[in-house]
Amino acid sequence: MTRTQALTVIVFPLAIAMAADDATVRAQSPVAQPMASRSGIDLASMDQTANPCDDFYQYACGGWIKNHPAPPDQPYYGRFHELQDRNNEILRDILDQASKPAAPADQKKIGDYYASCMAETEIDAKGTAPLGPDLQRVDGLKDKNEIPAVAGHLQTVGTTAFFGFGSAPDFKDATQYMLIYAQGGLGLPDRDYYIKDDANSQSIRAAYEKHVAKMMQLAGEASAKAAGDAKAVLTIETALAKAALDRTARRNPSNIYHKMPREDVKKLMPSFNMSQFLERAEAPPGDSANVSEPDFLKAVDQVIASTPLPDLKTYMRWHVVHAQAALLPKPFVDENFAFYGKTLTGAQEQTPRWKRCVQATDNDLGEALGKAYVDRTFGPEGKTRTLEMVKAIEAAMGSDIDAIDWMSPETKKAAVVKLGAVANKIGYPDRWRDYSALRVVRGDAYGNSQRANTFEYRRQMAKIGKPVDKTEWLMTPPTVNAYYNPLENNINFPAGILQPPFFMKSGDDAVNFGAVVAVVGHELTHGFDDQGRRFDAAGNMRDWWTTADGKAFEDRALCVDKQYSGYTAIDDVKLNGKLTLGENTADNGGVRLAWMALMELMKTKQLEKMDGLTPEQRFFVGWGQMWCENRSDEIARLHAKVNPHSPGRYRTVGVVSNMPEFAKAFSCAPTAKMVAQPVCRVW
Ligand SMILES: [Zn+2]
Repeated sequence: MTRTQALTVIVFPLAIAMAADDATVRAQSPVAQPMASRSGIDLASMDQTANPCDDFYQYACGGWIKNHPAPPDQPYYGRFHELQDRNNEILRDILDQASKPAAPADQKKIGDYYASCMAETEIDAKGTAPLGPDLQRVDGLKDKNEIPAVAGHLQTVGTTAFFGFGSAPDFKDATQYMLIYAQGGLGLPDRDYYIKDDANSQSIRAAYEKHVAKMMQLAGEASAKAAGDAKAVLTIETALAKAALDRTARRNPSNIYHKMPREDVKKLMPSFNMSQFLERAEAPPGDSANVSEPDFLKAVDQVIASTPLPDLKTYMRWHVVHAQAALLPKPFVDENFAFYGKTLTGAQEQTPRWKRCVQATDNDLGEALGKAYVDRTFGPEGKTRTLEMVKAIEAAMGSDIDAIDWMSPETKKAAVVKLGAVANKIGYPDRWRDYSALRVVRGDAYGNSQRANTFEYRRQMAKIGKPVDKTEWLMTPPTVNAYYNPLENNINFPAGILQPPFFMKSGDDAVNFGAVVAVVGHELTHGFDDQGRRFDAAGNMRDWWTTADGKAFEDRALCVDKQYSGYTAIDDVKLNGKLTLGENTADNGGVRLAWMALMELMKTKQLEKMDGLTPEQRFFVGWGQMWCENRSDEIARLHAKVNPHSPGRYRTVGVVSNMPEFAKAFSCAPTAKMVAQPVCRVW
């Protein structure tokens, strides 16, 4: 159930990825449908007693927030999750049918995978047996020199010990995949948790240590030994965390690009037998690799050299137990939830098993499940309508680049070339992934998940030295999300998001432009945000800006950084304006572009007042209503550290307060709270 760790392939999703640990799918509640209105706006979700100039988020979302308290299993619940709930019902139905003996042959694999995941009694009866082979490999280590071989094998089954390893496009030659090493092998979600000494970090660290001990006990250790082992794990992970690059630094792609001959990688780790690692990790032959964070590999080498072998074995044991905890017997699943769900996110209850198994199937066999989903939900007409919207937003971006006063003609020319080269992928892949090499055995949930990890790992390794396949999708069709990939210069909209409240087929243009068209604009703007601007039309990391234009961009971005750094996540924790800069830039740019496209449309099409709102007002309500959400205090803290997206409230008010068009639409006074001073604008 764990996703093979994403390495440093940089993609820009619309919202934070919904990992299994996020517990994003809602308990058996009736499926909520947005209330019908003439415009398609969910009027019951608004709070029309609030003053839009004073608190636009309350105005657009007050009703929704009140009527949708976060369910006990979902401490973070918003419109994305509401839609994912509806998708999950469809996916469950598909998988229930596929699990039956009479299921069509092409759906047997997803049916068997799902049914095995659901078979809790069988999983419990097997106990810790599925862990056996990998734990024996670790326990059998007699010498530190044997560590690389075992660590290499673990990579192939989806267990990351010491560092991440895989393939990614070469940043400077985005037509080719290459080997990549990245920081990894930590059990906590961010290096800060190991290093910072504030009360919250300390208490999470202490809870994590207890969690490691408990898991080791469940895996068969006596309690005194488990407690000592947890300390050893913390010591090793802390040493690694200290050498890890922080998230803000990692936003600059040149900080995580160090292409070197493979011989030089060996020099970073003199006491680690890299040849043996590469062999067991099934790395194809080749000359070079990208070491994202060379200092991290050096630290791994030092840690291995200076730590006693028994402690290193303990660290590796922990990662074996941790990696697939979700498919072990109930006590493991419960303990895993107690830490990653309760302590880290504030969830009160576990997500029902069927939803976890739907997500696991989507994760491991996403394009097989996705094909069945697309057949049911998304026809070719969905693709056509979406493409029309994409064209409208691209035209708006072209006019925007043309009109801005801070960029020289020279840089503008390159920007227009990049814009013209953006490829659009809508709904689902043209060619579906072939899973025939993946063996799924009914009744072997753990093995299926490990084999799926191996299948995916080998698929990644097989890319090395080959041209980049830009038709590949990095999200599955039922996913409620979207992304821009700077290394391929394309925008991607899975079928899962092209539904209400993001896309109202029969809704009015003003609302759709504020919602789905702004989302398209958001993704497009990523090609021109603080990260995306460092890649050119072909997806290569190359500076196509003049020095003066680069400086003008930075100045404007700094305004956005300061604006969002002033927003409070919770208590004394502020948003990190640098971590969220790209997303905030994309939100502001996306809404600006969608606005321009709407104004263009209104030149030829008259939009009337509807539901008591002018078209201009409906546009902004459409944007705001995508971000209605409730979140626990724990989520607010966690996301302030790790999520490059601002909370829904600030995605809404941060954008509208930068737009004089908003103040005009709602007749806000210049001194109103929703009118920013100064107004920030990049695009
Ligand atoms: Zn984004």
